[in-house]
Amino acid sequence: MDKAKLAVWKFASCDGCQLSLLDCEDELLQLADTVDIAYFKEASSREAEGPYDLSLVEGSITTAADRDRIREVRRQSRNLITIGACATAGGIQALRNFADVEEFTAVVYAEPQYIATLGTSTPISAHVSVDFELQGCPINKRQLLEVISAFLHRRPPQIPSHSVCIECKLRGNVCVWVAHGTPCMGPVTHAGCGAICPTYNRGCYGCYGPKENPNTGSLSHWWQRELGAEEATVVENLRNFNAGAPAFERESRRWTDRQSREGGHDKE
Ligand code: SF4
Ligand code: SF4
Repeated sequence: MDKAKLAVWKFASCDGCQLSLLDCEDELLQLADTVDIAYFKEASSREAEGPYDLSLVEGSITTAADRDRIREVRRQSRNLITIGACATAGGIQALRNFADVEEFTAVVYAEPQYIATLGTSTPISAHVSVDFELQGCPINKRQLLEVISAFLHRRPPQIPSHSVCIECKLRGNVCVWVAHGTPCMGPVTHAGCGAICPTYNRGCYGCYGPKENPNTGSLSHWWQRELGAEEATVVENLRNFNAGAPAFERESRRWTDRQSREGGHDKE
């Protein structure tokens, strides 16, 4: 029987999610017995032609050339899975969506006219249809293997969509919010990291993006009312690796819009 053809693609990203796949080591060798790793530039210079049975896509769309390239990747892929916060929410580079990218390039580059970039960083799903989104910054390698295995066996991936709080309780952690008054994004953040930050006595800062149906309005209300969190703290926590995820973006804009209306702060 022919092996399924796997391709791994990079767009605007730091490569950390591809490294999670390389980090699988023993499992990767087993995977290579099952699939033909046809295109994976981080691991090999081999470039087998498509079509591909399964494409894993890391990174966001920040240039016109990448906007065209992702359409071609989609055309060649039977199944397309996005991996990581960049690909599923636009990544940390989506902070540009809240500002003027021309102002940034003018400050950072001596010759900004040579910089060809879009004004926004957007997830892959904003441009093509996506068969599954695996959240995280970086992704969890066990979850990645589960997703690959599920697609190869034509079954739905078993990835829990509950919050980090559930993982935190399963680890038997003392809640840093309740015990120490530390702001924690755990109640609205997707599980997958194993509640690593609360386990080391610090608040979760939302690397895995929004959980299913997150109540971000309630979280930020209680951060301010119960913990006395500054508005800037609320906005900074909503605007990091998953700033462009709709649930986090909506809530952060609600806060900055209120600041503008009250006139006490700069617009963004
Ligand atoms: S999601 Fe995080 S780890 Fe993955 S490529 Fe983007 S910045 Fe890197
Ligand atoms: S420490 Fe954070 S993640 Fe853990 S239970 Fe408390 S709020 Fe939830």
